[in-house]
Amino acid sequence: MSKVLVIAEHLDGKLNAATAKTVSAALALQPDSIDIAVLAADPAAIAAEAAQIAGVAKVLTVANAANAHALAQVLAPQIAKLADGYTHVFGPSTTFGKDLMPCVAALLGTAQVSDVMAVEGSHTFKRPIYAGNAIITVEAPADHVVVATVRAASWPEAAKGGSATIEVATVETALPGHTRFIGLAAGKSDRPDLQSARRVVSGGRGVGSEENFKIIYAFADRLGAAVGASRAAVDAGYCPNEMQVGQTGKIIAPELYVAIGISGAIQHLTGIKDAGTIVAINKDAEAPIFEIADIGLVGDLFKLLPELEAALA
Ligand code: FAD
Repeated sequence: MSKVLVIAEHLDGKLNAATAKTVSAALALQPDSIDIAVLAADPAAIAAEAAQIAGVAKVLTVANAANAHALAQVLAPQIAKLADGYTHVFGPSTTFGKDLMPCVAALLGTAQVSDVMAVEGSHTFKRPIYAGNAIITVEAPADHVVVATVRAASWPEAAKGGSATIEVATVETALPGHTRFIGLAAGKSDRPDLQSARRVVSGGRGVGSEENFKIIYAFADRLGAAVGASRAAVDAGYCPNEMQVGQTGKIIAPELYVAIGISGAIQHLTGIKDAGTIVAINKDAEAPIFEIADIGLVGDLFKLLPELEAALA
């Protein structure tokens, strides 16, 4: 008898695709029911989107001005209350879920199962460790609610076409005053979102400078791709931190990943383990990236990229 509560991730009134991926992991439990909780200032539009995910029975909405911004310390006590009666509470292992779900787990007096990549049973899950070099099977205590984050890159989005009922939920709990929203500093970009893009072009240390990174942006725009980077490129100040792909950056699963001037360190490869076709451009034929690349171009990126761009035009 499993009942799963999935926590919706959303921004600017739109549901994040990671929510439908989290529902896929919930479906793998073959539960009796799956509900989605939408906590927002005005949850109506988000709930309507969530209700269309196939396999979802109910969408619970919690409307509160305090939920206008995703603050883990504010959301967690409400989710802990909503969790009553559920056997599982799942969230995506995006930055949102990684911030929120440990707080939920702590309030429910349990340890979180992180980065679920496969479901083996109602309390048994597979997850990656050592930067994805090993996969372990973890077992959560059977007598306790399971709080887990779901590795979005490992799961497809659950299909649309559902028609869940939408219910207003009332949550009686004191919200903390010690954590409040001050402001959001985020880079603006018209390019696709790195975490959900179908195509990603990433640059590494080999690109050489922030100025040179323009060649990466131009190539990405030609492909309609999001732009990512290695940690070395981020640390060197070639591009902002939110573009980092890898173990300590974003874990992504695009259909096409183009790695340019990136050597292929294991911490970078962790972030693209589930990518479809991997293309690498590197002047060093011995670079480890070529071991995992489907297509490899050995040569100087500053010569090859303009040629590729011209061919695409
Ligand atoms: P390099 O390894 O220096 O490679 C640059 C490549 O560019 C070389 O292969 C070179 O041949 C090629 N090149 C140079 N010039 C040209 C040219 N003109 N044309 C074509 N090719 C050229 N790294 C991440 O990326 N993401 C992470 O999340 C991450 N997390 C980490 C966490 C920990 C705990 C640790 C210890 C490390 C982490 N790292 C991460 C760092 C990682 O180990 C590597 O140092 C980093 O990925 C290297 O980045 P790079 O490939 O851009 O640089």
